Amino acid sequence: MSPIKIGLVGVGKIARDQHLPVIAANPDYELVAVASRNATLDGVDSYGSLDALLDARPEIEAVALCTPPQGRHALARHALERGRHVLLEKPPGATLAEVHDLVALAKEKGLALLATWHSRYAPAVEPARAWLAGRTLTSVTVSWKEDVRHWHPGQDWIWQPGGLGVFDPGINALSIITHILPRALVLKAATLEFPANRQAPIAAQLDFRDLSGVPVRAEFDWRQTGPQSWDIVVETTDGTLTLNRGGAAMSIDGVPHLEEPEAEYANLYALFSRLVRERQVDVDLAPLSHVADAFLCGHRVMVEDFHD
Ligand code: NAP
Repeated sequence: MSPIKIGLVGVGKIARDQHLPVIAANPDYELVAVASRNATLDGVDSYGSLDALLDARPEIEAVALCTPPQGRHALARHALERGRHVLLEKPPGATLAEVHDLVALAKEKGLALLATWHSRYAPAVEPARAWLAGRTLTSVTVSWKEDVRHWHPGQDWIWQPGGLGVFDPGINALSIITHILPRALVLKAATLEFPANRQAPIAAQLDFRDLSGVPVRAEFDWRQTGPQSWDIVVETTDGTLTLNRGGAAMSIDGVPHLEEPEAEYANLYALFSRLVRERQVDVDLAPLSHVADAFLCGHRVMVEDFHD
């Protein structure tokens, strides 16, 4: 089969770190060109907008949208209306309704749509899900604490409405637990800490119960200096499962179980290739729904101003 002719929109950090090298390494794809308002790429045709890209390069069959979540709905809708398959970076949108709209439109047009949750493809996630299936859980704790100045320097959009603040990394943890835990979660209480000068939270504490009543506590914090933590601990009646480093490592009762190489985006692009061939939609809104619930129901606490 001939490679999928793909265009990429939004040449920023994640496009450069992951999408472009992974597309280049996968023979299922041929990168035709990119679109970005300001950035250009050496050796790759670059256009200033999605429209300009699709006008100039009608052979493009699929687009990967690597822009911030605000504004992504308009881009995705436009691409689908123009008959292109769409890969959405996480989170799939700034609101739930706009993602429902994209799902309906992709199905109506018979086009592929993938809401990517890259952390679900961390190497220890699938083994953790398999180990937990059928076991009796007693508690779950999530600690996702990192230094925003290190990981998001100069990214203004994360602090704007729709940018999610600390939920931008926190939603990765939610994407893992909604995948590995045997039962669905319901949010019972939340506290969101907003710097007085920002529109998005810098920290959040979420208390869920799963549908059998097991407590699930998640703590997200962007003020962490020193060691960073992306950890999930699941207590069961058969022992303690721990995921560290964002799902890269797993241990049971402290005994390491595997250390596989990282291949999150390689796996995402393999999945998208299949969806394009089969013209299928793969959109799971559970992680974004929990974030929305936290904004709906959480206590709001003002904390000190944040400056880059
Ligand atoms: P970024 O470095 O800010 O890059 C996004 C790019 O999109 C910008 O460089 C910008 O390029 C373009 N853009 C288009 N409209 C924009 C707007 N209204 N405001 C700002 N930029 C706009 O962000 P990123 O870290 O790559 O994140 C992009 C998406 O990927 C987010 O949804 C994020 O959650 C997700 N993601 C990021 C990472 C990561 O490690 N950074 C990991 C996984 C997922 P032009 O100025 O040239 O248009």
